Amino acid sequence: MDKMTTLQRVFGYTQFRPGQEALIDGVLAGRDVFGIMPTGGGKSMCYQLPALLLPGITLVVSPLISLMRDQVMALKAAGVPAAYINSTLTGPQMQAVYRNLLAGKYKIVYVASERLDYPGFSALAAKLNISFLAVDEAHCISQWGQDFRPSYLRIVNFVAGLPRRPVVGAFTATATETVRQDVERILGLEDPVRAVTGFDRPNLFFDVIQTDEKDRELRRLLASRRDRSGIVYCSTRRKVEEVCQRLRDLGYAAARYHAGLEERERTESQEDFLYDRKTVMVATNAFGMGIDKSNVSFVIHYNMPKSMEAYYQEAGRAGRDGSAADCILLFQSADVQTARFLINNGGENEDLTEEQRAQVRRQDLKRLDAMVGYCKTKTCLRGYILEYFGQKHPELCGNCGTCKGNFVEVDMTREAQIILSCVHRIHDKLGCGLGVNLVASTLRGSKLKRIGELGLDSLSTYGLLKDRSRTELHAMIDHLEAEGYLRTELEHQTLGLTTQAAEVLYRGKMVRRKVEVSDENPQEEIPATGDTAELIDELKLFRLELAKKAGIPAYMVFSNSTLADMAKKRPATMSQFKKVTGVGELKASWYGTAFLKCIQRFELEKK
Ligand code: ADP
Ligand code: MG
Repeated sequence: MDKMTTLQRVFGYTQFRPGQEALIDGVLAGRDVFGIMPTGGGKSMCYQLPALLLPGITLVVSPLISLMRDQVMALKAAGVPAAYINSTLTGPQMQAVYRNLLAGKYKIVYVASERLDYPGFSALAAKLNISFLAVDEAHCISQWGQDFRPSYLRIVNFVAGLPRRPVVGAFTATATETVRQDVERILGLEDPVRAVTGFDRPNLFFDVIQTDEKDRELRRLLASRRDRSGIVYCSTRRKVEEVCQRLRDLGYAAARYHAGLEERERTESQEDFLYDRKTVMVATNAFGMGIDKSNVSFVIHYNMPKSMEAYYQEAGRAGRDGSAADCILLFQSADVQTARFLINNGGENEDLTEEQRAQVRRQDLKRLDAMVGYCKTKTCLRGYILEYFGQKHPELCGNCGTCKGNFVEVDMTREAQIILSCVHRIHDKLGCGLGVNLVASTLRGSKLKRIGELGLDSLSTYGLLKDRSRTELHAMIDHLEAEGYLRTELEHQTLGLTTQAAEVLYRGKMVRRKVEVSDENPQEEIPATGDTAELIDELKLFRLELAKKAGIPAYMVFSNSTLADMAKKRPATMSQFKKVTGVGELKASWYGTAFLKCIQRFELEKK
């Protein structure tokens, strides 16, 4: 197979992203490579695809053992024979992996950097035909990066000890010149093919909200992102505990993650998040490197990070699959003091001399200044970011808080009364509540079969808001929830009235809502034309069922952008199905028929 066919058949994509092809060609031609691409840019493809085409095996060095399993699982879900080696394997598991390795059963093997200089491993490696050694998160080798890992220095000895030097590839999202030079020099890359792609991530919406009431703000932000998966970053463990508890009290399925928790709980939290059992992850920056959950739709920073590098890396975990996603930073001037304190009293790096430490600290304070500048700037936020990373950019991007931040307050009392009354009548009729989608469909006068079956078309509120878009209705319902008139019952995700709702329903209390002047909601993943949004919801539910059966996270079945494309293209045959972006041969054969049926059912029900 050639690279294009492999890209299509195995990974289901029709085009390479910027930088990928040059790096892949380099590796296939036996050259070292160095890829510098932003988070979500598609670095893994640059070693996974060559691994399938090269003879022998590809070793991938990765810093975080807890995440290798997920990467390997994702590869297996695409039909690639892969394995990982790290300290979480039991003795017998390790032996099995070693046996399979020697028998040539794997194409890709992930290995923790610590493992490289175990004598047992080196002895094994000497017997293998290693074609390619890929160093992921390569900036970990530099002490000037934010994630220096001394164990990365061992890679060099490991390569030197191999009977034949494999092609070596390094991949990182870190843009600074010092770190780049360190990576090339220390790893000893030989005249590598370099690809530095643009750092812009157009699908990410950036915003900074200056507020002294972060909890309230967070609550508001989350209420309008119900059911979406997202991360809330806090700067300290204590804050993580506090915020996570508060969100749980409010009924959110929140998980927590920080270095102070037992390894067991951390793994569990991470999996709850990956598998969408928990939708919000509240974490310190200990969480996230190597996380490639593709459907993270927002990253909210409760506290300001210490540098733009850190911010862009953390925020960049949103929207990896290319769908629209939000990166929002809550800022308060007190954050600056906290960050300064953390830099001046941060953990000492034992491997550095006193002088080097002072230099690191000076650099950190300089980076902090740039971060504070971002929080305070009145110019385009994306422009600020790209400028920082030395990239040219237009003056206005049109997709950040500065460029879009034109809000006006509108009166939505009438709509509020209709919505609340509809929720009330549904309860009266059915003796229970319904989820937000059905409530919205009722208000819009949808012809969905379910609506008829439940008799919702006989309610007096049926179709009363049919002139409103689905997006707008959702936003209004979310707003009513944030204001405390509606609440979502946790277990079944159904809507109910609170006692406060009576104020609006019977005592004429006014309800106001902020809307953008341009009106288009920047957070909306897909413009909700016709019934596409409804179909996407259906497909998501269906995906979840399949994923549960297969015991893998939902996004590993198909990403959100794949489902969106599916809803748009509405394939009716297998060959049309394969044209959906993100659908490879193997997944088409596994899931194709089932999804085709799901789409067909949906179309029939609409009739
Ligand atoms: P990085 O490691 O650079 O942060 P990943 O390798 O995790 O990024 O890739 C991010 C997402 O992009 C993944 O969901 C991946 O499947 C997707 N992706 C990679 N290459 C392509 C491509 N050529 N076309 C479409 N999507 C791609
Ligand atoms: Mg990666």
